[in-house]
Amino acid sequence: MGYDSDNIFAKILRGEIPSEKLYEDDETYVFMDIMPRADGHCLVIPKSPARNMLDASDAQLAACLRTVRRMGHAVMAAFDAGGVTVQQFNEAPGGQEVFHLHYHVLPRHDGVKLRPPGKMEDMDVLRANADKIRAALAELD
Ligand code: 5GP
Repeated sequence: MGYDSDNIFAKILRGEIPSEKLYEDDETYVFMDIMPRADGHCLVIPKSPARNMLDASDAQLAACLRTVRRMGHAVMAAFDAGGVTVQQFNEAPGGQEVFHLHYHVLPRHDGVKLRPPGKMEDMDVLRANADKIRAALAELD
């Protein structure tokens, strides 16, 4: 099982389909999940090809986790959250649907469950939540 460069996140990286971008550095790119399971749910991906954690290089994993930590701080600040959940799925039986390595970053509040997957967010709401995260990112450094 190799890397298919026609996957949806590869298309986002190439700018072939739009995404609500939050952050990027040399190695990673971050954007809003269009079917968020919590307000502020975002995805961290490496810019270079990796199907998932199982074929990723040490450098890709390290770069992604550095960015995951940064986004964890940002989403917690943006949504006044008490915690953050990080999810990462590998292969279809492991829950993976898009075959480009990605980490889900989800701000969490005490007693609030994640929403069920698969519901498309209103684009104005998604953009407003992205604005909050971008503002929090700007305050981080
Ligand atoms: P996983 O592969 O970890 O199960 O989940 C893939 C994630 O990508 C899902 O949370 C889904 O909502 C999100 N997703 C799928 N297609 C798109 C898309 O075209 N744009 C964005 N921003 N997110 C997507």
